Order: sequence, then C-alpha cells, then structure tokens
Amino acid sequence: MTLLLTPSANAVARQVEPESFRDFAHQELEVCAPWQAGICFRPECGAEFVPSRQWQIYCCQACERAGVAELRKWGHRMALSALVWRMGKYNREDEGVINLTRAARRHLTQLQSAWVADRSARAAERGL
Ligand SMILES: [Zn+2]
Repeated sequence: MTLLLTPSANAVARQVEPESFRDFAHQELEVCAPWQAGICFRPECGAEFVPSRQWQIYCCQACERAGVAELRKWGHRMALSALVWRMGKYNREDEGVINLTRAARRHLTQLQSAWVADRSARAAERGL
C-alpha cells in the first residue's frame, strides 16, 4: 500500500539545481571571456561571424553541436575525479581517502592540461 503524502507548508524546499558556469560567472565573463565576440570558439573553426544573440560563441549550429559534444566528452572524463576530489577534500584522518583525493586532484589537473593542449593543437592545425 502506498501512502500519499500531501505537501505541507512546512516542507523543506527541494534543493535548486546549481546554475551553469555562464550564469554563475556572468559578470566575470563580461570582463574577461575565454572567447572573442564574433569569433567561433571551436578551435578548429575560428570563423568570424555576426552573433545573432549576445551569448552566441559558435558560428553555426554544427560548431555549437561539436562544442557541446566536446564539453560532454571532457566533462564526462572529469566527472568522477571531480566528485571524488570534492568528497574527500576536507578529510584529514583516513590515509586511504587522503591518497584517493590527491589522485583525483592530479587526474583532474592532467585532464584539464590535456584539454587545453588538445584545443591548442586543433587551433594550430588551422594555422594559429
Ligand atoms: Zn565555427
């Protein structure tokens, strides 16, 4: 038997999903964005374009799809190490957790460096 619970006025609100980085760091991105307005953010493209919206960073839908796929690919690789690093970040007692947390942080740093190197190599292939 399933009991149906009616929502109470005293119920705790569900936690809101964290906002995207672009929303979270909106002001900072306004000052110092890692992309140039009107230049496609996809390294192997880099085409000049006229943005139809202020937040447009890719020249076309194909580049946007490829850019989102790139974020997914690298984000998926980083997800577990980012989670493990954060879960153990403040543990000062369990040596196993401390070592695992360090490994997760090293892995995250290696992936970040590899991603930046990958983007630089792709930009270099088009002559930058
Ligand atoms: Zn493009």
